[in-house]
Amino acid sequence: MNSFNYTRAEDVAEAVREMAMDGKARFIAGGTNLIDLMKENVERPSRLIDITRLPLKEIYAGIDGGLRVGSLVTNTDVAYNEEVQRRYPLLSKAILAGASPQLRNMATVGGNLMQRTRCCYFYDTATLCNKREPETGCSAIAGFNRAHAVLGTSEHCIATHPSDMCVALAALDTIVHVKGPDGERAIPCVDFHRFPGDTPHMDTNLRPDEIITGVELPAKSFANNCSYLKVRDRASYAFALVSVAAALELEGETIKEARLALGGVAHKPWRDQDVEALLKGQRATTKNFRRAAEALLRDARGFSHNNFKIELAKRAIVRALSQASGEEMQ
Ligand SMILES: Cc1cc2nc3c(=O)[nH]c(=O)nc-3n(C[C@H](O)[C@H](O)[C@H](O)COP(=O)(O)OP(=O)(O)OC[C@H]3O[C@@H](n4cnc5c(N)ncnc54)[C@H](O)[C@@H]3O)c2cc1C
Ligand code: SF4
Repeated sequence: MNSFNYTRAEDVAEAVREMAMDGKARFIAGGTNLIDLMKENVERPSRLIDITRLPLKEIYAGIDGGLRVGSLVTNTDVAYNEEVQRRYPLLSKAILAGASPQLRNMATVGGNLMQRTRCCYFYDTATLCNKREPETGCSAIAGFNRAHAVLGTSEHCIATHPSDMCVALAALDTIVHVKGPDGERAIPCVDFHRFPGDTPHMDTNLRPDEIITGVELPAKSFANNCSYLKVRDRASYAFALVSVAAALELEGETIKEARLALGGVAHKPWRDQDVEALLKGQRATTKNFRRAAEALLRDARGFSHNNFKIELAKRAIVRALSQASGEEMQ
């Protein structure tokens, strides 16, 4: 049994102070990921800093016509918020494609951004895993890697980031707001999560002593032409094999702007702005969508059990873009 201390922070400054004092502490929000990891002996924090009473539970108008969502707003409250449903249906759909109603009632925005991979070896302490124990090896590369990444992998880790919410946030150009002992920072969501490289134990660019205070959705919301398509082994309560957040701005049949982010294929939500540029000015046709899909997956590399993901991702992109353009039912 691992013993740990428990502290409840009353304000953000106190939470940051407590974290700076103990390098092995962890914030706990909804607990839906952290408690599982503690039960499996993957996470062994010396202290839990309970942040559930911090005043970060509001959704309100942001700067420049956007929307600010506090990091402790639950996934349910984000997904069913009227303003989010009206202006950011892509985000609402992505969140509702994840987990179960009970989990979404507990899970928070900050916790969702910080949730860890579902790689089975990461959870199994009897196996080697560079993410859990740096420089020990990766059991997945020559192991059972059906759910693993096909883009942006390294020889040290081929895990995927499991979030649905983050795929929509990346597509929408969301900013993540954080606070630490040195003050506040704003990190574009596309730069928040990291590639595994030779430091796969580091999932994000959040510093160990920083707390996420909220996310800022920009004014541009692609409300009229968007789709979140999630392909998984079961119709619900399963992580994505591949997911696609697609958003278009159309003028007639011509694409004025396109956003495309993939989940389930990389260590972070995958966005390629060169491919989005390729769609700009093109007609919204299946042929052009397939061209974009081919370009997006051009550097994909499968492993023994997950080669199927490459073609699956291409087809999911074509379908999501067709749905976003209104050509196909959602
Ligand atoms: C069975 C199951 C199925 C699931 N299915 C899906 C799915 O299909 N799609 C999907 O996207 N997700 C899914 N999830 C994951 C779920 O969405 C996450 O567990 C949840 O979002 C984590 O939020 P939380 O508030 O409970 O985080 P916690 O468990 O409290 O914390 C998770 C991590 O985030 C850190 N943290 C929390 N808040 C902050 C903050 N404000 N600042 C800095 N660090 C912070 C904690 O220290 C911890 O390291 C599933 C989970 C389970 C258990
Ligand atoms: S893929 Fe990453 S998380 Fe999975 S075993 Fe390898 S190093 Fe660990």
